[in-house]
Amino acid sequence: MLSLRRESQGWVRYAERVLGRPITAHLCTAKSPQQVMGSLVKDYFARQQNLSPEKIFHVIVAPCYDKKLEALQEGFPPALHGSRGADCVLTSGEIAQIMEQGELSVKDAAVDTLFGDLKEDKVTRHDGASSDGHLAHIFRHAAKELFNEDVEEVTYRALRNKDFQEVTLEKNGEVVLRFAAAYGFRNIQNMILKLKKGKFPYHFVEVLACAGGCLSGRGQAQTPDGHADKALLRQMEGIYADIPVRRAESSAHVQELYQEWLEGINSPKAREVLHTTYQSQERGAHSLDIKW
Ligand code: SF4
Repeated sequence: MLSLRRESQGWVRYAERVLGRPITAHLCTAKSPQQVMGSLVKDYFARQQNLSPEKIFHVIVAPCYDKKLEALQEGFPPALHGSRGADCVLTSGEIAQIMEQGELSVKDAAVDTLFGDLKEDKVTRHDGASSDGHLAHIFRHAAKELFNEDVEEVTYRALRNKDFQEVTLEKNGEVVLRFAAAYGFRNIQNMILKLKKGKFPYHFVEVLACAGGCLSGRGQAQTPDGHADKALLRQMEGIYADIPVRRAESSAHVQELYQEWLEGINSPKAREVLHTTYQSQERGAHSLDIKW
């Protein structure tokens, strides 16, 4: 069965408005990190602080302008009692501008935590080079659950280009899991063509609308002449790579959230908070007049 990852808002908008039902039927139902964070802040954190959700103004820093639309489209999730998960979405480029205008330095900004008692006192990151990593998590989980295989290192193999990569699991000389990472519209369009021809052999695809992932999002800080700041990107990749990895399943905070907030793994509350549904729609009505 094919599952297409849905955390890139650019990709989701393209799938919903242009490709329609044949593709949205395969979109993974897990909510995006922005949507989950909205519920975490306005539901879990609000209750911890004895605040009603509307007393909290939640600002998200995002890599692209599509994330603003995502916040609007999500509307008012029932669990948040009339409040939006995100009240304001600013791109990192906008934050940089505000800080420059206010002559603020990053060093002046204290990093805070949602969790009162610091069970984990260091900043850690998930697996992956930047906005990727979901593929590696699902791949390890599927290998263990379906084939009882422990995968330590997930090895990516670049195919057509560095933004189209493949990960496979072999057992007894046979490929039993075949996952792909497809970033950027050139690779997405190739994927759609192959899907339509029934020649797409993957079980799971991590799809990101931007080539290179979210670090190349249009809302990221740019050079004064309006281009992607490649030197800054390399610097960010380097800083990110130096942050220690902690897998979600070994995080004390994640365990705590499942127990105290989501009422257990696979509970009705976890399904409501972490998953979304799609309206059954045929190929988008505006499909012919949208140019991507
Ligand atoms: S920056 Fe690009 S890859 Fe990331 S969410 Fe936005 S559109 Fe998707």
